Amino acid sequence: MDGMYLRTLGLTAVALTALLPASAQKKTWTDAEVMKVHRSALLIDTHNDVTSKTVDGFDIGPLAKDGHTDVVRMKQGGQGGIFFAVYVGADNVEGNRSAHRTLQMIDTVRHDIIDGHPNDFAFAGSVAEVLAARKHGKIAALMGIEGGHAIEDDVRLLRDYYALGIRYMTLTHTNNNTWATSSGDKARPEGEPKGLTELGKQVVHEMNRLGVMVDISHVSDATFWDVLAASEAPPFASHSSCRAISNIPRNMTDEMIQALTKKGGLVQINFGCEFLSQKAADSSPMGNPAAMAKIQAQLKEIKDPKERHAAMEKIREDLSSKTVRATIDDVVANIDHIKQIAGVDAVGLGSDFDGVGCTPVGLDDVSKWPNLTRKLLEKGYSAAEIRKIYGGNLLRVMGTAEKTSARLRASR
Ligand SMILES: [Zn+2]
Repeated sequence: MDGMYLRTLGLTAVALTALLPASAQKKTWTDAEVMKVHRSALLIDTHNDVTSKTVDGFDIGPLAKDGHTDVVRMKQGGQGGIFFAVYVGADNVEGNRSAHRTLQMIDTVRHDIIDGHPNDFAFAGSVAEVLAARKHGKIAALMGIEGGHAIEDDVRLLRDYYALGIRYMTLTHTNNNTWATSSGDKARPEGEPKGLTELGKQVVHEMNRLGVMVDISHVSDATFWDVLAASEAPPFASHSSCRAISNIPRNMTDEMIQALTKKGGLVQINFGCEFLSQKAADSSPMGNPAAMAKIQAQLKEIKDPKERHAAMEKIREDLSSKTVRATIDDVVANIDHIKQIAGVDAVGLGSDFDGVGCTPVGLDDVSKWPNLTRKLLEKGYSAAEIRKIYGGNLLRVMGTAEKTSARLRASR
């Protein structure tokens, strides 16, 4: 409805407000009301990189001075579940250490995080186990591999990783691997497949059969469309946002989001400032590949893990200070954009906390989730919609992956 139409009807804005249902009128929410809705949701963040710190000795338990994640702040924020990123840097390919790194990263989740804090975390490898963790008052701890080179071109390794608890795999990181191309790397030479190769299709099939969700964050657009055609279970983006709002290759176009939704998938919004707002993207060194390569090379030179951690934190601070910060309103704008073009069933949360340098004002770390609940309620989102965005949609996709797996295993 626009202004012209209102004037034709002879309605003033005040008169119109009186005609609106009570639910559409601006309501103020008390903290208690916000927290009641917040606690009714099972909030599952599908991408957190604190593992890159715990593997070097950081203890996730006590309140930390820096970074975005620890148990104290997770509890403050009312977080119910978390996919820890089993991040395997592209530099491991060169030294042929991708599998070694994958196992180290899985071990830091299982040994340092879950076994180290048994009263706070419970391992979850299924929807039922996520719900059981919630019932026991614990945070469900799940794992996703970031970087398909982790399997070293062998689905046998994929099966081993599944057995150790991996429940999604991001097909690429910023590098092409032999079977899938990345949004952060060059296109293959003329005549070669632009997206998935035959082996890539076999990997996707084996992920479907095992019940490992197919994550299309980081992949090239060509790989995205190939995955959409090849996957029998709904793929999802564990940490990406909207290209219509911030035009960077890591974000998704409206066409991609709508096609993903038709297949039952979803996009989990990334909180990195440059993912959320064009202003942030334009000001961030993250958008400059040469600058990023230089930073990565510098970090690689530092052999001592503690020193590397300190250097990483310093770089993170440095990047943040150069970037125009996004705000919590930009997060809401990305959520709302997906709701408008694809429906509320297509959107969720994949913060990338401790994996991004700059986080939005108002959603600075894992303690701040209730701020988002307030913003969404004020924008008119219902409690039921918030529950879907926070975890309901993700559990739906995970449940479908489990059903697809059961069907494919039975038909073997
Ligand atoms: Zn990532």
